[in-house]
Amino acid sequence: MTEEQDIAYMRMAIEQAQLAAAAGEVPIGAVVVYEPHDPATRRALADPRVVATAYNRRESDKSPSAHAEFLALEAAAAELNAWRLTGCTVYVTLEPCIMCAGLMHQARVDRCVFGAYDPKAGALGSLYAIHEDERLNHNFSVQGGVLESECAQILRDFFATRRQAAGSTLGADACSCSAPKEA
Ligand SMILES: [Zn+2]
Repeated sequence: MTEEQDIAYMRMAIEQAQLAAAAGEVPIGAVVVYEPHDPATRRALADPRVVATAYNRRESDKSPSAHAEFLALEAAAAELNAWRLTGCTVYVTLEPCIMCAGLMHQARVDRCVFGAYDPKAGALGSLYAIHEDERLNHNFSVQGGVLESECAQILRDFFATRRQAAGSTLGADACSCSAPKEA
C-alpha cells in the first residue's frame, strides 16, 4: 500500500467518524482493505478493495465491544467468509485499545494504520505494543499518525460541542478506546 493509498483510506475512515458524530457517538471510524498477496513472492494477486467500513456504535448498540475497528473486522470477516483476515489492513482514526488490538491479532491481519495516538489506552505502541509482542503467535505491522491532526480534531470538536450542550459536567469519560483528553 502506498502512502497516498494510506491517506485515501484514512479519509474514508474519517468520513465514518463523522457519521458517528452525527449519530451522537464518540467519532471514531474504521475501514478494512483487502489486498491478497502470493505468500511466496509477496506479489499482489488483486487490486486492494474496501471490504468493510464502520463507526463507533457503543451507545447505539449498548455494547462495550462496538468500537469502530471491532465492528469493521467482524464485517470484513463476514464479507470474506473467513475468520482469518490475512491480506487485510485496518484503517482507524484512533489508536486501537487492547480489545481491538487483540482482535487484530486473533484475525491475523497484515497491518493497522491509525490516525491519532491514544496515550491513555492505545495498545499499538502507546501503552502496549500488541502488534510486536513476540510472546504472541502473530505479529503485524503498524503505522501511526496518518492524518493525525484531523483525526484528533474531530474528537476535540465532538467533546467541545458536547460540553457546551450539557454544561461542563460531561466529557470526562472520553473513551471508545478513550479519546485524547482535552486540557
Ligand atoms: Zn477498541
